[in-house]
Amino acid sequence: MIIANYFKNITKYLDLGKEIYTSPIYGCKFCGYEGMLHRHGYYSRNVITKYSIHKVNILRVKCPSCGKTHAVLPSFLIPYYQYSLEFIFECLYLSFVMKNSYSKIVNFFNSLNPDSSFTASNVSSFKKRMKENKSIVNSFFANFESFYYDMDNPNVSSILQKIEKFPKDILDFNSSFFKAMPKHFFSKV
Ligand SMILES: [Zn+2]
Repeated sequence: MIIANYFKNITKYLDLGKEIYTSPIYGCKFCGYEGMLHRHGYYSRNVITKYSIHKVNILRVKCPSCGKTHAVLPSFLIPYYQYSLEFIFECLYLSFVMKNSYSKIVNFFNSLNPDSSFTASNVSSFKKRMKENKSIVNSFFANFESFYYDMDNPNVSSILQKIEKFPKDILDFNSSFFKAMPKHFFSKV
């Protein structure tokens, strides 16, 4: 799995289709090979955003050194989740920072996107995963002087606010996190 930061906007990504993959992809985290990875086909998957459901093409690349294939995900996605990163992040923010109730959050997303199939159990599983990721995200922020506060006893709310303040936006956070850390953001701990 590779998170690529040059696919930032889902609408543009959909408009361009496979044409978007003009830049070569470098580097295999599995074996440490730093050269260019070879294109190895596409697969299609669903993305649920705040407003609609899309089908997107995902490129697969293969490492010429170890032979492992990697999916190249645009930074608006998190591996293994159908909901877009912005959807998940907003849900977490509404719960941990804004202290909204589960029913308020569920109603909010269902009113924007009635096809989202979003339920309280989604909220609860996102929250659980975020709590599991708390320490690793906290250690990511130790790399940045401007985010070096609340480090000793961070709470999830403080961490989410750091993600929100990350230079540019959450999508840059997602690709920066992937580059700096051994695992992607929101991975199974
Ligand atoms: Zn490799």
